[in-house]
Amino acid sequence: MSTPTVKLLINGEFVESRTTHWKEVINPATQEVLARVPFATPDEIQAAVAAAKAAFQSWRKTPIGARARVFLKLQQLIRDNMADLAATLTAEQGKTLADAEGDVFRGLEVVEHAANIGSLQMGEFVENVGSGIDTYTVLQPLGVCAGITPFNFPAMIPLWMFPMAIVTGNTFILKPSEQDPLVTMKLVKLALDAGIPPGVLNVIHGGEEAVNALCDHPDIKAISFVGSTRVGTHVYQRASLNGKRAQCMMGAKNHAIVLPDANKEQTLNALVGASFGAAGQRCMAISVAVLVGEANDWIPELVAKAKTLKVGAGRDNPDLGPLISCAAKDRVTTLIEKGMEQGARLELDGRQVSVAGYEQGNFVGPTIFSSVKPGMDIYDQEIFGPVLCIVSVNTLDEAIEFINANLNGNGTAIFTQSGAAARRFQQDIEVGQVGVNVPIPVPVPLFSFTGSRASKLGDLGPYGKQVVLFYTQTKTITERWFDDAVTVGKVNTTISL
Ligand code: NAD
Repeated sequence: MSTPTVKLLINGEFVESRTTHWKEVINPATQEVLARVPFATPDEIQAAVAAAKAAFQSWRKTPIGARARVFLKLQQLIRDNMADLAATLTAEQGKTLADAEGDVFRGLEVVEHAANIGSLQMGEFVENVGSGIDTYTVLQPLGVCAGITPFNFPAMIPLWMFPMAIVTGNTFILKPSEQDPLVTMKLVKLALDAGIPPGVLNVIHGGEEAVNALCDHPDIKAISFVGSTRVGTHVYQRASLNGKRAQCMMGAKNHAIVLPDANKEQTLNALVGASFGAAGQRCMAISVAVLVGEANDWIPELVAKAKTLKVGAGRDNPDLGPLISCAAKDRVTTLIEKGMEQGARLELDGRQVSVAGYEQGNFVGPTIFSSVKPGMDIYDQEIFGPVLCIVSVNTLDEAIEFINANLNGNGTAIFTQSGAAARRFQQDIEVGQVGVNVPIPVPVPLFSFTGSRASKLGDLGPYGKQVVLFYTQTKTITERWFDDAVTVGKVNTTISL
């Protein structure tokens, strides 16, 4: 049987690309080739943008209730297809089935939020800003917007983007990760089934060239990107130079402070789950534990807990699955070797893990280093694997200063039973998303994702209230009406601001 090909979506039709450049989509637990994904040609990208531009003319004027109803329907379709979506995601990405359902679910929450657009896209009105003069604002869609997504949440992150862009009246071009586009395409199909009209949502595939084409295209007004800091910085600069709005959510090095008064059992469980879950391939994974004072005595128990985790193929629902690719595995194991060479103490080594029946899988088991310092590659780089670095300090102030000296600002957490310590941390830490006894503080879509510093470029976050402002232009209307019935007989009706 020939390998299936992933289609482009242009003007409501799933079409075969005419490109000669293809990439294989590979199951990271088995190396089975699941599909081939095309790198779209310039003409195909142009056709997708042209379709989105044409569809904008009617979609922007579609009543807000009708737009909302598409997403009410989509949330139901996603629920109905949850098991199939999760199985597809696990096959191409590697994460466990339970995690895959979580990935879909966190995206589903954004779809539910999009269905509330009626109360989110409201303007403001003030009467009598001058005599007889009123001012109001409307939040109008921008036009064609584009989204570029990473491999690690192939359901959640596309769902951060296209529902909110489209429900606010824009049309959209999605460029999924070329490593795992299959679940994204299933979600896109469900979106069409839910009633998204032709041209309103389009999908192109590819890598650097496709992304650059989106950044350069004059008809695209805004770009939302999630991925690495290197690529995100490039996208932000290129899109901004071309006069577009851009928001880029990027790489991370997330620290958790552990104070000795924390609840030991709950804290160690939280650390193990947040460091090694999804094989460390979460932008909000905890990759550095900053142990304060006597909390350093807990290292042996942390290692013992990490040793109990089961590594395996995602479909067997172990604790952690494989890394996305052979290249990712090589990168992580090379960094582990560097950590040893550069003087960190290897407390637990996950390099030799082998999974019966899946000998070819890209597995790395939980790995823990202590005595980690800035200047070591394992500290300075985002490893994006199941590797936890332990740093030892003496005080809370030292811990806060240490974290603030790191360039990244995606997520952080503190474990303590002291309200005063938690409050100081929350006020003084320069990181966008803060957890207090919560290891992975990703906000629900009533709020927005709020990474900061080197983890984010652009002012407004994806999803939530902020993204309504990102995907709309505020127009201010100042209005005066002459009422003849009122002014009859009056000689001088002067209105001034
Ligand atoms: P990546 O930057 O390699 O890829 C992201 C997207 O950019 C993909 O669609 C890819 O095709 C495209 N791309 C790759 N190379 C490119 C290039 N040279 N020029 C233009 N486009 C290019 O990221 P990834 O490996 O898929 O994802 C992992 C990264 O994403 C990690 O750094 C992780 O922290 C980050 N991430 C951040 C968040 C967040 O919200 N801050 C969320 C998830 C993932």
